Amino acid sequence: MRRDAAWNPPAAVAPKRRFGAPRRRKAGATDIFHQHNKTDNCIDWPRFNANFSGVRIISSIATMQPLAQKWRRTGKRIGFVPTMGCLHAGHLSLVREARKRVGKSGKVVVSIYVNPTQFGPKEDFSKYPRDLKCDLRLCREAGVDVVFTPGDAEMYPGGICSRRCESADEPRFDKRGYSTYVVEENLSRTMEGASRPTHFRGVTTIVAKLFNIVLPDVAVFGAKDWQQAAIIKRMTADLNFPVNIIVGPTLRERDGLAMSSRNKYLDGDLRRQATVLWRAIQTARTAVKRSKAVPAVKLKANLKKLIESEPAARLDYVEFFEPDTLSPMSRVTLGTHMSLAVFVGKTRLIDNGRL
Ligand code: AMP
Repeated sequence: MRRDAAWNPPAAVAPKRRFGAPRRRKAGATDIFHQHNKTDNCIDWPRFNANFSGVRIISSIATMQPLAQKWRRTGKRIGFVPTMGCLHAGHLSLVREARKRVGKSGKVVVSIYVNPTQFGPKEDFSKYPRDLKCDLRLCREAGVDVVFTPGDAEMYPGGICSRRCESADEPRFDKRGYSTYVVEENLSRTMEGASRPTHFRGVTTIVAKLFNIVLPDVAVFGAKDWQQAAIIKRMTADLNFPVNIIVGPTLRERDGLAMSSRNKYLDGDLRRQATVLWRAIQTARTAVKRSKAVPAVKLKANLKKLIESEPAARLDYVEFFEPDTLSPMSRVTLGTHMSLAVFVGKTRLIDNGRL
């Protein structure tokens, strides 16, 4: 695994470390080693607040919010990493960044919540990989103070629209149900927002709620979800959340595949074919280096051909844009940002990189 070259120079590939063995630090090498153990089974979702050998597990807002308020009263800084669980080294790099920002005396909170409102009706919400036992072990090892694992009834009391409200214009709520959403109206329109129409409404809503519950000073998000990070920054500024948003680099497997919980779906040859996203980014980088400015239409067509030369791969979108505003670029140059989404078999993968 290595950090995305757009953020950091390629690091030496570090040797694999047996889980639980002491870390060896090496200049220039990333020190994140984790191999998922496929035999790990999930444990029951905790229905109460418990301690798991050093990591406090909290599943109720009534416990989490007053604890965060107490921390703040006593001058402790709070670092927060929101996740959907099934943690991997990419998530853990964000945890380390959060710890770095709040220091030893600060508190690091990781939330693990598969948020139903950010999944479309035909998406993989019920199948999304969950492995709380493994997650808690990793959080304990990473020195996390609290894992916040709320259930749906806690986050969406009264339930959410059963049709998952595909269209915001046509809401059909249960009158007693949850009915307040946060919507970013500009950056959310393209790319993931175009392919998954209600996705970002779910993301901004859950992140706003989590900010109000965890009360972080600093929240760390991954560059892996570039558009998401841009939207969260926008929402934080627009709604005046007193939270410093940090974006950590994408962590990759040795062959360039961006780490993702969904990589667990990739069996057999699909895992090899999935590297085509990284190969597409590299191909675009080479094209831009060679000819300084390349018409986006031409580059898109070439990349589609490359991607779909893999038998199970189908391009959803590839876009070139200005990295902060996400404005589309018709001519692709050095410094342009590229994002793409590709179905590999039934698994939809996303990736991005600076060209
Ligand atoms: P998720 O659990 O997929 O919702 O991701 C939780 C956070 O981890 C998000 O901010 C993601 O952008 C970030 N993340 C996911 N994959 C990676 C990765 N490979 N490297 C760094 N951050 C990541």
